[in-house]
This record gives sequence, C-alpha cells and structure tokens, in this order.
Amino acid sequence: MIIYTRQSMDRTGEELGVTRQREDAEQLAKLRGWTAVRTLTDNDRSAAGRKPREGFEALLQALERGEAQAVIAWDWTRLERNRRDGLRLIETCQKHGVTLAFVRGADIDLSTPAGRLVADVLSGVARHEIDQKSDRQRRAMLQAAQDGRWVSGRKPFGYQPDGVTIVPEEADAVRWGFDSVLSGVPLAEIAREWNARGFSGQSREWKWGSVRHVLANPRYAGLRAHSGEIVGRAVWPAVVSEETWRAAQDIFEKRAAMTTPRGARRLLTAIGRCGGCDATVHAGGAFSTYPMYRCGGYTKSPGGKADPSVRHVHRKALPIEDFVSRVVIERLSQPDAAELLIDRKRPDTGALRAEAVALRERLENLAIDYADGTLTKSQMRTANERLTMKLNVIESQLADAGRVDVLGPLVKADDVAAVWETLGTARQRLVIDTLMIVRLDSPGRGVSVFRPETVRIEWK
Ligand SMILES: [Zn+2]
Repeated sequence: MIIYTRQSMDRTGEELGVTRQREDAEQLAKLRGWTAVRTLTDNDRSAAGRKPREGFEALLQALERGEAQAVIAWDWTRLERNRRDGLRLIETCQKHGVTLAFVRGADIDLSTPAGRLVADVLSGVARHEIDQKSDRQRRAMLQAAQDGRWVSGRKPFGYQPDGVTIVPEEADAVRWGFDSVLSGVPLAEIAREWNARGFSGQSREWKWGSVRHVLANPRYAGLRAHSGEIVGRAVWPAVVSEETWRAAQDIFEKRAAMTTPRGARRLLTAIGRCGGCDATVHAGGAFSTYPMYRCGGYTKSPGGKADPSVRHVHRKALPIEDFVSRVVIERLSQPDAAELLIDRKRPDTGALRAEAVALRERLENLAIDYADGTLTKSQMRTANERLTMKLNVIESQLADAGRVDVLGPLVKADDVAAVWETLGTARQRLVIDTLMIVRLDSPGRGVSVFRPETVRIEWK
C-alpha cells in the first residue's frame, strides 16, 4: 500500500497540511491492517498547474511495477490534479486492479465498472474545485490593480497585448477620439471613422457604445482602476492628460443628463434657468412651429394655488436662442477671447494632478491605518469623507480645465459666426454650458416684443 499526500497552493490557510493528511492515512491503514511500503508527497502545487508532480509520477510508476495493490489518500482531490492526471491514474489502477482508499470517502475498486463510474464523478467534483480557485485569482487581480500593474485580459485599444506598450497609430486614434468628444462630435461619428480606418475593436465593428466604453477607460489617462474605482497611477504610459480624460467623462455624464425623452433638443433645454426659481427650463409648445421654454420647477404651493410672488418663465424659444447665439459669437469674436477663455480659466493642471495623486494615496493609507488599529471606525469614516470630498473638487477642476478645449475651434476661428452655424445643436449646447449661465425672466403679461434685458447672462 502507498500513501499519497499533496499540499496544493495555499493562500487562505484553509488547506489541510500534508502532515495531517499522512497521519490520517496511516490511521486508516492501521484499521485495515495494511502496511505502507512508501509515502509519496507533492508540495505546494496548484491543482490547475502544468508542472509535473514528482510524487504523483512516482506513484504511477510504482503502480505500474506492481509495488502495491492499494493507495491511500485523504480524498480524491489530493490525487487528481487535473482531468488528464485523473484519467492516467484510473487507467493504471484498472490495469493492475488497484484499490483507491480515502480517509474521506468510500473505496474505489477500479477493477469494477461501478468503481470507474465513481472515479468519473469525482473527476467532475475536482474540476468544480478548480473553478472555485478563480476566487483567488480575482484577489490576485485586485492586488495587481493596487500595485499599478496590468493584469492580462483583452488587448486594450491603443496598446500592445502586454497592456503597457503603446501602439502609435491606435493611440493617435484614441487621442483623436478624445479631441472629437471634447469638440462635440457624436460617438457614432468617431465609430465610423475608426471603422473606416480599419481599426479592429473588441467586436468586429466599432459602435458608439464600444467607443464610449474605450474613452471612459481611465487607463488612457494613466490611471489604474479596480471595479470602476480609480486606485492610483498606472505603470503604463498615458495617451491623454488626466484633465482631457475627465472633461470627456464630464461630457458623457452631461450628455446623458441632457437627453430628454422628447428627443429633439433645443439650444437651452436643461441649460437655461427660470428667472423666478432657478430651476432648469425645458422645451414645450408646438415644438417646430411655435417652440416655448418653460420652467421645469413650476410647482403649486400647498394651498393648491401657484405662488403669485414667483414668476416662472414660459416664453417663446426662437428669439431667445437667436439672442444667446449672438452673444456667444460676439464674445468669442473679441480679441481677448483666447486669453480670457483659455489662459485665465486654465488652472495649474500639473499641481491639481499631483494633489489628486496625493489624496488617493492618503485614502488608501486610511484603510491600512484602520486595519492596523491606528484609527477607529468613525475616525476612518470621517477622514474618508473629508478626503473624498476634496478629491471630488480636484477632479471636477481637472474636468473644467480639459473642457475649455470645447471652445478651441471657435476661439481660433477667423469667422466665429460661420463656425458657430456649422457646429450643430449638441456642440452649441456644450459651448453655452462652458461659457455661461442663462436665466430667463418672465416677459410680463401681454408683452410680445423681445426685450434682451429679460435674458440674463452670467459668465462662468
Ligand atoms: Zn420657475
């Protein structure tokens, strides 16, 4: 009789040590009146691994030589590392009429069909155990993310399969994609361009959703994320600056928020505000022929009547849109437009980025301090909230810095009015939202002439 023990990869400490396995096997042998001719052991090998098991191979050879008529193991999973090894063992035992005995489980006499059936079932169970080990792999991936390493997966667009080396043409396409988003190009158009240039996506063809999925990935800003949360700087090079990436995310969120169920969006829907209550306005009326802007926050007082002191807006859209467009064109045609809108508004992004990195590190350290017992739970929670709030402010400042790029084409244009006309409503909306807050006052009862002073513009 041969005793076989195996210690597999043990990261959890739940595994049964080889010493305990051997002691139990020896006890079983004593009960049966068997004598151990050898004890073979494999240590610390992964069940799904590919490395040869010296002890296991020695066991097969010993059985081939007819050294023993029985093998004792703690359970079937100790013996069977993978399907192939399991089959080899079953075939060898069948050939030589060997019985497998387990500390946990009934004997398997492989000279009988019933015994072989049981061995087959046990193989399936073993594979299930291997599947469960992916839990450990997930933990390893989290660790890798925290270390800033790339864990293998699909090849990221713009990088080699190693996830670290830049593919120049693809990285250019990604950069162009970010620029396009920032200047208001629809995602579907970016998808068309990438398809036309023959870049292969994760599926055969780029669609707006897959483009967005790529551009939403923080890896392009050289940031590493785990489960959707940014955990720090990555080891791979960035393709765009963090502020560009953040500005794009900001636009994605805004676009989602700006989409109204009615589809056709007007210039100031969800951007313009009611002069009476500051709620955003939405479009109403007969959309194409007689469009109106109406306060979205219009509510009646508890008494059932509208509060007469608040004058919510409800007025014709076209003259307002025309006026706001003229103001934008006028402002961006000024010689100081470039200076005012880009230089003065652009914060020191290098300093902001450094601060963001420092804050993220402090957040990470909080968890460690808490685990060490240096901080109590409530101290950790308070510090966590404070740091997260600071980080949010920095991140939105970075997004603002990147968003100034929306104005690029207009500020650089010789004929601002001509460029404005070609922008399309979606891009015009982004420009307005970047530049100003528009408040619409009620024109007053019976007033039908457009008065510019009822459109209050506050520059951002
Ligand atoms: Zn209102």
